[in-house]
Amino acid sequence: MSKHPVITLKPREGRRARAGAPWIFSNEIAPGAKSLEPGSVVDVKFDDGQPLGSGFFNPNSLIAVRLFARELGVAPERKFFERHIARALKLREQFYPRPFYRLVHAEGDGLPGLVIDRFDDVLVIQVTIAGMERALAQLTAALTALLKPATIILRNDTPSRALEGLPSYVRSELGTAGRIVVEENGARYFADLGAGQKTGWYYDQRDNRAFIANLARGKTVLDAYSYTGGFGILAAQAGAKEVICLDSSEAALTLAQDSAAANRLSLRAVKADVFEELARLAAEKEKFDIVVADPPPFVKSRKDLEPGAKAYRKLARMAAEVTAPNGILLLASCSHNIPLERFSTECAAGISRAGRNAALIHTAGAGPDHPVHPMLPETAYLKALVYALD
Ligand code: SAH
Repeated sequence: MSKHPVITLKPREGRRARAGAPWIFSNEIAPGAKSLEPGSVVDVKFDDGQPLGSGFFNPNSLIAVRLFARELGVAPERKFFERHIARALKLREQFYPRPFYRLVHAEGDGLPGLVIDRFDDVLVIQVTIAGMERALAQLTAALTALLKPATIILRNDTPSRALEGLPSYVRSELGTAGRIVVEENGARYFADLGAGQKTGWYYDQRDNRAFIANLARGKTVLDAYSYTGGFGILAAQAGAKEVICLDSSEAALTLAQDSAAANRLSLRAVKADVFEELARLAAEKEKFDIVVADPPPFVKSRKDLEPGAKAYRKLARMAAEVTAPNGILLLASCSHNIPLERFSTECAAGISRAGRNAALIHTAGAGPDHPVHPMLPETAYLKALVYALD
């Protein structure tokens, strides 16, 4: 047990935390703690001196403390990480036969500010808070002991790090990784994890890719915002008649095409802006049995809600316009800042604007390797809505 500086809550504060929430907001804590450095490990107590837990403190963040233990004096050391990661690993191993998954999903796995994607013996780590950044050496020691990785890459370039006063960088901690193979849903895909490149793999859509592939035999499929072909390649493997991957990134499309070739599948890659290409396809009266639209986040911050919501509506309309009669349309959003209800309303409005009737047949989020802390339902960022159009 170590002795940490103590943060005391204001009188009557901490109701959510008492109920199990892992965040303490800056307005809930008594003055006096501001002199502690960002990332300090602290003990948190209620105003009457009752213990609340151990956490990472940041005086500059609205989320002032992120708790990682319900006891005082817990240090984020190697043993602590080994315990949590072993538990996270056990959960994944129940779902996935192969070692390809998000191994750690932040608060959902009891490790605030930390995301780890596993590609067999390659680990990609993303740290988003100052406290976790300070604990990096202990974390990598735990990972090495548990998994003996060949490669560890730090992808510490998310914009949110700036709010924590952290620098943006990508570097290799161990080994090097360029192009690797990802095994998912029985398919093999290439991904490029090369340090310095903004690339990787999105495990969050795994189950939704399988849902679509299950409907794809003999169908024509448009995979819009395809990235490296997550949806398109699985649909092709499931027997789709024709697959088009549409993206603005040449590098992503090259990977999609190479993956298709390695699996002896055929796929057409189109490099274009999705809105422009959908307009062109609609003008030519082209239709697809299945349309997937999985764009980058349109609502990057809360102030973007209205324009972002409008963009989702427009995308829904344009995607519905190229969906064949009796076709299937998947619309996704990875924006934290738009709630499911609002996203769903915009999608419905857009489809209706296209003059189509639709039935919502499936509502989904990320897979079980993206667990959500039950007191933080708002951190479930991914929404995927599947419609059957008439
Ligand atoms: N569906 C993918 C993930 C999509 S990520 C999967 O299953 O893995 C979002 C993608 O949108 C990125 O590949 C990015 O290159 C692409 N993108 C962003 N803006 C775009 C635009 N205006 N037109 C086409 N593609 C765009």
